[in-house]
Amino acid sequence: MSNAYRNNFLREVTANVEEGEWVKMCMQCGVCSGSCPLGPHWEHPPQEIFMMIRAGKREEVLKSNSMWYCTSCYNCIARCPRGLPITHIMHGLAHYAKRLGMVPQNQQTAKFAQKFWDNLTKKGRVNELTLGLSLYFMNGFGEGVKTSLKMQGVGLGMLKTQRMDPLEILGGHGCKDVAGLQAALKKARQIEEAKAVKV
Ligand code: SF4
Ligand code: SF4
Repeated sequence: MSNAYRNNFLREVTANVEEGEWVKMCMQCGVCSGSCPLGPHWEHPPQEIFMMIRAGKREEVLKSNSMWYCTSCYNCIARCPRGLPITHIMHGLAHYAKRLGMVPQNQQTAKFAQKFWDNLTKKGRVNELTLGLSLYFMNGFGEGVKTSLKMQGVGLGMLKTQRMDPLEILGGHGCKDVAGLQAALKKARQIEEAKAVKV
């Protein structure tokens, strides 16, 4: 539905996005956008995102790159006169866009987050070696080789100081109850899906 307005988008955000019920409280003062260290580089800084949600610009918001650039610095939250939890809403919007399959193609933060999540949830502990390698190679083999060569000093330093275990390549450690973790994650997914409101 390109460039189409959906008058119920605010209702959808309120129902499905973390802290989304706060969006209607924004008074459009612009303090958040002015306080955001990365705001000038965003296609749509936070105040604009809130205005677009209220204007029903569903596609433009959910397909935007902007909320993926939030670094959780909390400048905006500390300064918003209305006390909006802006950081959480930005992450909530990114998460909701991901659930709907609306993340822009090749979005680097989303790719990074997925790699991290997959690595962590496999055994309940991050395997630093395989995570590092998967991040180096996430944009293709050629770039992976280049990045690995560039970072080899750091990697060797970590191995020398035992900050990284080369045997992690074989799978690494997991938490005590991997099956229990998987069951808890499955249950959490079911609860989230059941909660999702179709608008
Ligand atoms: S600082 Fe708060 S009230 Fe002002 S535009 Fe940003 S979110 Fe809205
Ligand atoms: S928490 Fe995110 S949105 Fe808020 S100022 Fe920092 S980078 Fe910008």
